Amino acid sequence: MFDFVIIGGGIIGLLTAKELQESGASVAVIEKNSPGQQASWAAGGILSPMRPWHYSDAVNAISSISQTVYQELSNELFNETGIDPEWLLAGMLVLHDEETPDALTWCKQQNDSYELLSVEQLSNTFNHLKPINEAALLRPAVATIRPHKLLAALRAFLVKHGVTFIEQEAKHLVTPNQQINGVQLESDIVKGGEYILCAGAWTPQLLRENITVDIQPVKGQMICFPPIELPNHCMVMDGNRYIIPRKDGRIVVGSTRENTGFDASTTPQAFKELRDFAQALYPALQNIEPDAHWAGLRPSSPNSIPYICRVVPFTNLSLNAGHYRNGIVTAPASAQLMADIVLNRTYRINPTPYQLTRS
Ligand SMILES: Cc1cc2nc3c(=O)[nH]c(=O)nc-3n(C[C@H](O)[C@H](O)[C@H](O)COP(=O)(O)OP(=O)(O)OC[C@H]3O[C@@H](n4cnc5c(N)ncnc54)[C@H](O)[C@@H]3O)c2cc1C
Repeated sequence: MFDFVIIGGGIIGLLTAKELQESGASVAVIEKNSPGQQASWAAGGILSPMRPWHYSDAVNAISSISQTVYQELSNELFNETGIDPEWLLAGMLVLHDEETPDALTWCKQQNDSYELLSVEQLSNTFNHLKPINEAALLRPAVATIRPHKLLAALRAFLVKHGVTFIEQEAKHLVTPNQQINGVQLESDIVKGGEYILCAGAWTPQLLRENITVDIQPVKGQMICFPPIELPNHCMVMDGNRYIIPRKDGRIVVGSTRENTGFDASTTPQAFKELRDFAQALYPALQNIEPDAHWAGLRPSSPNSIPYICRVVPFTNLSLNAGHYRNGIVTAPASAQLMADIVLNRTYRINPTPYQLTRS
């Protein structure tokens, strides 16, 4: 019997496990594939909502707290596991944003560092991009991380610190009354004092017979180019598309937003759209073909606000899911809040906006 049983081994489940393990609790993570393979693996790793001025205070609150801990988290994981999650203070350049005045107002109000770069400044600093004919917003404090390395490091860290991984599908919760008595696997039942659902886009399937939770899968496709020489690693956002240069010069390009249910296949059309976008923006890519193409299912929720709460009327069931496009950046603060809730600690974040019953 574990103190906590977590279902789902994406970034949310793994960081929730880390918070609980660090409190001295015994923790098991049930994952139907290998941990860290689904949306979390597919993510770009931008450590900010793409346009925070379009998001609610609830999303920005957990994003900004997480942003302050990511560098330390990355260093801790590297030191303990030898796997470098590649946290990088790359900055984010926002091009052709007709809403730049909104963005500027938001940056000022939130004390988010920014610069409005003139056309001349752009052509001096970003001469590896196509010519940009209007001023653009630079957010120098936006960092990035490499999701598959972050996940590998987290998993190694958790194994080292005694968290149990059970690589099987959770079939359903054993619920004779308002208490969860276990998680039914193919043939075994895993028992815990408390149960936390972190199953991303699949979360509603585990609550199906009990509670309705509004989380839907939204497919995102990405491509990646082989390494090129770069004067800087600044990320670039242009409309709905973005470029993330990795430390090793690889160029990640995202992303699509598609409502295709649980179909996570890639399509030639998305490949072409993303490639054409990147090659137009980065002339150095024009004679290079992408060498990777993948897709993941984001767990979307109303207003992109995740559910981080207890599930009433159950006495020992909680939820940390529905992080939609921001689950990498929101994960650390959401895990902290989840742990505060289930360990009955003082909340460091107001939990009200993340309730299941919010209006
Ligand atoms: C293309 C793309 C780009 C993105 N870019 C960014 C970005 O730059 N920055 C950012 O912050 N966010 C980004 N996101 C969003 C982010 O990836 C997600 O919000 C986040 O990964 C959600 O994490 P999760 O742990 O909830 O879900 P997942 O990573 O999907 O993990 C859920 C896990 O639960 C497991 N599971 C489900 N059902 C069961 C079951 N019955 N039994 C056992 N296990 C089960 C699944 O196998 C899975 O491993 C992006 C997403 C995509 C798809």
